[in-house]
Amino acid sequence: MNRVLLGCIADDFTGATDLANNLVRAGMRVLQTVGVPSAALSASVDAVVVSLKSRTIAPAQAVAQSLQALEWLQKQGARQIYFKYCSTFDSTPDGNIGPVIDALMTALKTDFTIATPAFPDVGRTVFKGYLFVGDVLLHESGMQDHPLTPMKDPNLVRVLSPQTTRKVGLIDHGVVAQDTAAIQQRIAALKQQGVGVAIVDAVSNADLHRLAPALAEMPLVTAGSGVAIGLPANFGIAPNASAATLPGAKGLQAVMAGSCSRATNAQVAAFIATGRPAYVVDPMRMEQGQEAREAIVREALAWAVPRLVDGPVLIYSTAQPEALKTIQTKLGSAKVGEWVEQTLASIACGLVQAGVGQLVVAGGETSGAVVQALGMQQLQIGAQIDPGVPWCAGQTKVNDDILHITLKSGNFGTEDFLLKAFGKLSS
Ligand code: ADP
Repeated sequence: MNRVLLGCIADDFTGATDLANNLVRAGMRVLQTVGVPSAALSASVDAVVVSLKSRTIAPAQAVAQSLQALEWLQKQGARQIYFKYCSTFDSTPDGNIGPVIDALMTALKTDFTIATPAFPDVGRTVFKGYLFVGDVLLHESGMQDHPLTPMKDPNLVRVLSPQTTRKVGLIDHGVVAQDTAAIQQRIAALKQQGVGVAIVDAVSNADLHRLAPALAEMPLVTAGSGVAIGLPANFGIAPNASAATLPGAKGLQAVMAGSCSRATNAQVAAFIATGRPAYVVDPMRMEQGQEAREAIVREALAWAVPRLVDGPVLIYSTAQPEALKTIQTKLGSAKVGEWVEQTLASIACGLVQAGVGQLVVAGGETSGAVVQALGMQQLQIGAQIDPGVPWCAGQTKVNDDILHITLKSGNFGTEDFLLKAFGKLSS
């Protein structure tokens, strides 16, 4: 049997590809599964990332799904477990980061783990326990207006504490900047103080590389995807190009954006500014019921299909914070979020049926809904487009063909990402 070295559980789909991307770049052969597989692993890989869609569901459900993923990964022989969450620590006072960490620690019978969303390659740094997004603190980054997980406090010790039954501590930069031995000593001291989960400062990749060897013996690591850059070396694996090979791309090209994050707003505006065709779906109509939502799907496809032959089209629900707030106040954020996700997912299925073979999706929850609707169960991870965002390839149930798809977390990618992505695919 193929023995998996690193078994990963990601709380959303874009997060899963982001993590897989970092592991591939560090030399691991990685398979991403959509949900918990029912069968044993057949491919020979170094790491498996089980992608859940558990970031914003009820905490009890998130715990149950994460434990199911853990059990499957343990059956595949995983030597270490990695719980991956967002680099902006997306969560609410109820979870789901804390409850899932608690449950995994109990199941793995471990009394200590770390927690850090630091990912310096995309500007996520942690200093004195405070999370920065680029040059600003988390709660000034636009994340304070997130539709589902508004982040209003940048202090991660304070954010995590109410979510977990464990005592939360800090391994601060004064320690991380020294060496691995200093980090190990700090971990030992924190354990003695009864700390169960330590937030770790990191402002550079060098910090993460110093941290990684101190994690080698931990049954559970919890982090954004940044920490992954140093873990393959713990298993004796070095970067190599063959880890990222995908089959050749074919078919028509389309973009779907369901993220309202600042970066996606700018990317949608940049796409429209190129003069390429773009179509906005109107969430206000969605409360009229299933029939109205189905009509939106039909109208979007009727608009898109004839245009696909001329190059990439964009279908989006992306809205600015003010417009988003108005809609959410009127319809309820969870309900409208779900309607928009399902509508975009149905449109994605129609696009693939119409011959789209290369699809860019913006938004974590949106990507989850799209991949689930397409019935994609396994994704092979290819080359990186921008930090945190690789191309992936996998079979859909829509036409039993290989679809090249990239799942972009809302705030990732350069402004020209939505078109640039296609140029990074080799046919
Ligand atoms: P991100 O990666 O930026 O967090 P997500 O897709 O995870 O993006 O989350 C965005 C959420 O906002 C989704 O649930 C989506 O359905 C919802 N949404 C998108 N557009 C709108 C809109 N115009 N009005 C209300 N909700 C929206």
